[in-house]
Amino acid sequence: MDYKDLANLIFPDAKPIEVYEKMYPERNLPDGAIVTRFAPSPTGFVHIGGLYQALCAKLVANRTKGVFFLRIEDTDQKREIENGIEGIISSLKDFDVEADEGMISEDEWKGEYGTYKQSSRKDIYQAYAKYMIELGKAYPCFCSPEDQEELRKKQENAKIRPGYYGVWAKCRNLSIEEMAEKIKAGEPYVVRFKSPGREDRKVQCHDLIKGKVVFPENDMDIVIIKSDGLPTYHFAHLVDDHLMRTTHVIRSDEWLSSLPLHVQLFSEAGFKAPKYCHISPIMKNDNGNKRKLSKRKDKEAAVSYYSEIGVPPDAVKEYLVNIANSNFENWRRANKDAKIEDFEFQLNKMSVSGALFDMVKLLDVSKGVISRYSAEEVYNESLKYAEKYDPKLKKMLDNKEYSMKVLGIERGNNKPRKDISKWSDVRENIIYMYEKPTEYDFDKITGDEVKKVASEYLKVFDINDDKQMWFDKMKDTAEKCGYAREVKEYKSEPEKWPGHVGDISTAIRVMISGRRNTPDLYEIIKVLGKDEVIARLEVFAK
Ligand code: GLU
Repeated sequence: MDYKDLANLIFPDAKPIEVYEKMYPERNLPDGAIVTRFAPSPTGFVHIGGLYQALCAKLVANRTKGVFFLRIEDTDQKREIENGIEGIISSLKDFDVEADEGMISEDEWKGEYGTYKQSSRKDIYQAYAKYMIELGKAYPCFCSPEDQEELRKKQENAKIRPGYYGVWAKCRNLSIEEMAEKIKAGEPYVVRFKSPGREDRKVQCHDLIKGKVVFPENDMDIVIIKSDGLPTYHFAHLVDDHLMRTTHVIRSDEWLSSLPLHVQLFSEAGFKAPKYCHISPIMKNDNGNKRKLSKRKDKEAAVSYYSEIGVPPDAVKEYLVNIANSNFENWRRANKDAKIEDFEFQLNKMSVSGALFDMVKLLDVSKGVISRYSAEEVYNESLKYAEKYDPKLKKMLDNKEYSMKVLGIERGNNKPRKDISKWSDVRENIIYMYEKPTEYDFDKITGDEVKKVASEYLKVFDINDDKQMWFDKMKDTAEKCGYAREVKEYKSEPEKWPGHVGDISTAIRVMISGRRNTPDLYEIIKVLGKDEVIARLEVFAK
């Protein structure tokens, strides 16, 4: 009996790997094209760290005219949740990080290298496990959970490195005949990789993000096919990333310690290993302590949080690229209207120690993103948000024509307004355009002086004035109230006046809006209309 017979006994129906090698040929792509993937387990919704990985992968694939695909890793069926796949697909869609290939629903996929769902690829894994057994590089292991527990205890007592390796790998030394006999007798088994490694030797790998990494060689005879016939993560990684012709494995750095095993698996199978890029987790500053952003502790770790507070998905994305490549910010300054996809995203510029997540900065980035939206986009997105979360805002927006004018104030010009960071800000931000203020934030000018300003201004106010005329009248009002017409004038002789035209326009702004800071007052007046402006000023003139 030889390895081939043993392989046939274990996997009588498995096809030769040549079938799959032919079915999934090398991809015909331009030089330098990166083929990469996002490979989540369907254990729920995508978290910000997952989105971050997927986004980085998609950006490099697109930039190099490569392929970004979505593979569902569901071989650990205990961890699965219902509709897990749909949840992942829709999260990616929400953020426009959709894959070029891969699963598009629980059971359907697009692309020539499918299926992209591991639980449906059992035959393929078994074909490759059979191939490994034929090569003498894998073997059946009959150790029961009790045997393994006993092994663990023995190693623990002897203070020896735990695991199934070397002399401790009992089944590796069974003869082919002994193995065959056990199989024929119906003994349950798993299939293990026969590692050629030695722990006292070092292996050096190059990670595109981490740089040179040195590890002891792998010597563990890890399980490649479990007793349920499905592969472990390690073996599925080998088979899938080989057959799907992945050039770059971009994944979380929790897998970095498995790198020596993976490099060894590729080399033993005789396949070209992909390049590896291990992404460090996103960190958070927690009262001075830097720690990983946690799914359990931090609400901002769930991508659903951003739609709840109304941060647009492209703002979240923009922020993530910002923390992934620090040169993005300068690029954005120089390319205000360009698409994120046009940025030359580089994996090797990613932080080795983990990018720091900062909500304040995220909201600031979001302000910039929203400032580039047209009034129509702001209207539509605010309305979508309002329909779901804010009935009062919804009511305000029901008047579309008026709302478009309100949201169009100081928008679409060179220096657009930058006062909205999330849709949940909109109501508070524009409420004075719908209702008279209930509070007034007067500063320098108060009491009777406000009355004087209001009545003087009312005397000259004309809704049809152009901006120049409008401002001249502001100056006239300043003069009438005993204030300097020009700021410059005031500054050269400040003792001469109680203040200047700026103080007067602020008082008028507060009468109209309740606030000291608003977008352009001239535009606000135009949108509010004559009657409303007069009514608001009259409150003070009386
Ligand atoms: N299914 C693995 C995980 O969710 C994927 C790792 C990989 O990208 O290879 O961690």
